[in-house]
Amino acid sequence: MNIKQSSNIQENRYKAKPIFKEEKEFIESHMPEIASLPNDCWIVGGSTKTVYLDLYSNKPYIKFKVENGGKFIIQKDNRELFKDYVPVTMSETLNRESKRVNELYDNCVNRLAEYVSEHPNKIYKISHSGGKDSELTMSVWNDMLKEIKFTPDYEFIFFNTSNETFDVYKRIKQIPNIRIINPKIGWRQWIKNNNYIFPNVFRRSCCSVYKEGQATKTFDNNAEIAQVLGIRKHESTKRAKYEFLMDFDFDNQLFGKSKFPKKWVKLAPIIDLQNIDVWLLMLIKKLPINRRYLIGFSRVGCLICPYSSAYEDEIIKVYYPHQYEWFRQAIIKNYEITKVKRLGWTEDEWTNGAWKAPTGKNYHLLQKQSGENIKLYANLKGLSEDMAKKYFNRTCGKCGKTMQENELAMFFKLFGRYENQVDNRDVLCKKCVCEQLGITKKVYEEKNMEFIEQGCNLF
Ligand code: SF4
Ligand SMILES: [Zn+2]
Repeated sequence: MNIKQSSNIQENRYKAKPIFKEEKEFIESHMPEIASLPNDCWIVGGSTKTVYLDLYSNKPYIKFKVENGGKFIIQKDNRELFKDYVPVTMSETLNRESKRVNELYDNCVNRLAEYVSEHPNKIYKISHSGGKDSELTMSVWNDMLKEIKFTPDYEFIFFNTSNETFDVYKRIKQIPNIRIINPKIGWRQWIKNNNYIFPNVFRRSCCSVYKEGQATKTFDNNAEIAQVLGIRKHESTKRAKYEFLMDFDFDNQLFGKSKFPKKWVKLAPIIDLQNIDVWLLMLIKKLPINRRYLIGFSRVGCLICPYSSAYEDEIIKVYYPHQYEWFRQAIIKNYEITKVKRLGWTEDEWTNGAWKAPTGKNYHLLQKQSGENIKLYANLKGLSEDMAKKYFNRTCGKCGKTMQENELAMFFKLFGRYENQVDNRDVLCKKCVCEQLGITKKVYEEKNMEFIEQGCNLF
């Protein structure tokens, strides 16, 4: 099978970032079997990573997964297929794309220039996080200033979450006159004050303290403020509807309610750029690249965060051992103090990533039917393997709905376990059980509680 090379960037590379020397070494040291990786590769993904030789080939070079705890597993190895392939080098890529992305960039500058010229009296606050999108936005801002030939009231701002790394502070301190807004209580202290209750993906309590609303607390709510932000549509589905200009009415329409002062607006000069275009512009314009990217992060910002991937966790262990050690001690305290043990994870599993999305371990095991998971599930609940197997991949025989674990337990409790007997019964969901037995949902729930309180191991 031949590898094809397109003249346009492949769509699945829009979210890619370049693999710099340090990251290349990091990958090689964790998977010596694929060393050495060619120079100028690109990488996409979170805990599952896809590596591409260039932006134009129709196939990935390798694909690997990082499990919680730091095990690297190769999932696809296409190196053989690429034996005779000549990749497009980095400098050639920059040449090829330069006209296109420079045009995008100029559009960003012009659109911003137009707005600022029409609103010369607004006060502009340009946020910088130390990351690439901020870097490009700042560059757009500075080029816009040259175009409009007057200087509006503006300043660069860094909202410190205090959960950053020295690389971020180092870059921020290089920016002349940037205003740094520090939190009243540092992030670590905040965790301590909260008795080691950590944020997780269901409850990002620290974001509301350290990120959201920082601006409204800092600037005059009655002034005509325009916040200039490095946000992009393609970053997330949440941001897909964002536009260059977002005012009070826009926010109201999108969110139902604006948290913003009426007189404020948000401007997003690079709103429609793809991740890949930002990277190409960073390289073409030789903008400063935060060390965090060089060593393998795809984003800068909070170091210890429920949104970080298992891959990033491994980078943290290597490059920020002290910060990691603080985190490890704190999350062990969290394991000991709070009620998380109930969820069934060991201390090791908890510190190695289960804390980020704390669902019960049984729920987690049920997501994938495998011999090992059936065994673990049986063990966890004190069931036989024969019985445990009956909990995987079940849908209601009557309505087709995916069965919840609790509904399965109820079914076996009410209609018999049939343990170690032939059992090709259809299982039934809550609604269908109620219909079958002619009972109300309330009765079902009461029975449910009763069985749980009796300590029945089906639940
Ligand atoms: S650690 Fe994560 S969740 Fe907490 S403030 Fe930072 S980005 Fe938000
Ligand atoms: Zn049903």
